[in-house]
Amino acid sequence: MRTKFIFVTGGVLSSLGKGLASAALGALLEARGLSITLQKLDPYINVDPGTMNPFQHGEVFVTDDGAETDLDLGHYERYTHAKLGQRHNYTSGRIYHSVITKERRGDYLGGTVQVIPHVTDEIKQAVLQLDGEADIAIIEIGGTIGDIEGLPFIEAIRQLRGDLGRENSLFIHVTYVPFIKAAGELKTKPTQHSVKELRSIGIHPDILLCRTEMTLSPSIKSKIALFCDVKEDRVITARDVDCIYEVPLRFHKEGLDERVVECLNMWTRAPVLTAWEDLMTRVNEPQHTVNIAMVGKYVNLRESYKSLNEALFHGGVANRAEVVIDFINSEEVRGESLEERLQKADGILVPGGFGSRGIPGKLEAISYARRNNVPFFGICLGMQLAVIEFARDVAGLPLADSTEFSPSTPDPVIFLMKEWYDYRTDKIQRRDESSQMGGTMRLGAYPCRLRPESKAFQAYGQEEIFERHRHRYEFNNSYRDVLTAAGLMLSGLSPNEELVEIVELPEHPWFLGCQFHPEFKSRPLEPHPLFKAFIQAALERKLSI
Ligand code: GLN
Repeated sequence: MRTKFIFVTGGVLSSLGKGLASAALGALLEARGLSITLQKLDPYINVDPGTMNPFQHGEVFVTDDGAETDLDLGHYERYTHAKLGQRHNYTSGRIYHSVITKERRGDYLGGTVQVIPHVTDEIKQAVLQLDGEADIAIIEIGGTIGDIEGLPFIEAIRQLRGDLGRENSLFIHVTYVPFIKAAGELKTKPTQHSVKELRSIGIHPDILLCRTEMTLSPSIKSKIALFCDVKEDRVITARDVDCIYEVPLRFHKEGLDERVVECLNMWTRAPVLTAWEDLMTRVNEPQHTVNIAMVGKYVNLRESYKSLNEALFHGGVANRAEVVIDFINSEEVRGESLEERLQKADGILVPGGFGSRGIPGKLEAISYARRNNVPFFGICLGMQLAVIEFARDVAGLPLADSTEFSPSTPDPVIFLMKEWYDYRTDKIQRRDESSQMGGTMRLGAYPCRLRPESKAFQAYGQEEIFERHRHRYEFNNSYRDVLTAAGLMLSGLSPNEELVEIVELPEHPWFLGCQFHPEFKSRPLEPHPLFKAFIQAALERKLSI
């Protein structure tokens, strides 16, 4: 099989939704019966986003194979069925790392190592390894045309067009057409400049995707077409939408998928979009509203909890409910004012996180949820804190803690496990206090067996599940007996029963903490069972009081 490649670049400014546009195009091409894969090329120097501050860069998205990737891969997986991993996200840092490693090894046989051809060849190889993986590979180049650091990527894809040929490659450029209120007009100049910039590096876009607040009139389209030397029907309006899941339908109305297959000289069936249409009907006609309090640290920047917000939305849609999230910063809101905010919530969620900031506020929220029978969902750090709160307040261990925040606690209910069998790599893993930082996280998809009488089993409807992890600390098995005797149910364990993956309170209407991040696997067309069940529990509480 020979894969055809679509390259997506961005112009004018960042945050135009290139990732979303690539994902939505993927969805449309899948709906035409084509198989799809996607890849993100990021110009920054970090080798991967794993070490980047979520405040700056947004969430780190984790794939089944344990890659810590750009959040755009989350969009790709939510919109398509592409199975993504290490091969689908490259940064400049990773590319250079591999070039420099080869240089040190002597692979270049004494030659001078240069951006062209050595770095560009490395990029081309990263792209071309996807050949054969699907009918179409959509390659998104991060950053904006004109950025110095993006140049090697742009040069590489320019060369690839020559290597692959016209019918096997396609350039889509995402630009911005601002509406200037004072003039009452849409302005095409930024788009013209951006395309000029792109052409000066040797790339002639085939399709322009124009982000705008208004619909582009035929005359604006023909103006853009004329100045940018792109066919008029290949100037596509990408108008702002209320709900991001409407984008595939909008793009289809604008003829994007039709133009793409035409450019690539492919024959496919018309897309079957009923699932997306039904989804939008459910989104647009909710029958309920559910209020969820999200108590966390990175609440000021929504992008830090991207997948989580989407998963809650999916869980809402599955229950025909609009989910309204109250983001509560646990460092700022405490005590009575926290309680006041929580009183308005139908469900309380404590998400993942690292470090000791904001922990007491999160524990207060968990305690409130437990005592007041408010549905509670704890994810990763949220699960660990639920165990700590339970140990302190119910199991009679007032000093219980995690060694992450309290290294000398007498009751380390959450700790670094010295040795455990790792299902993903089929190796014994070892940890101690000196291996805390760096590459010692449990990353990627791990199996988990559910207890048949648990709420988790009720939600999933199956005994074995695979979920994605990103953490260092684990439930301490020395406390199994005392915690279960006090009423905590260990409802999900690794198949060898060594690792505790899910805890629940059977006496509570819905109180569940999971060591993994279920949000990474939720999709609008396949909402995650735990999010669906959590929102359902919140809705039931709301309707019952
Ligand atoms: N900080 C915790 C750990 O490392 C939880 C991590 C998370 O929530 N992703 O185990």
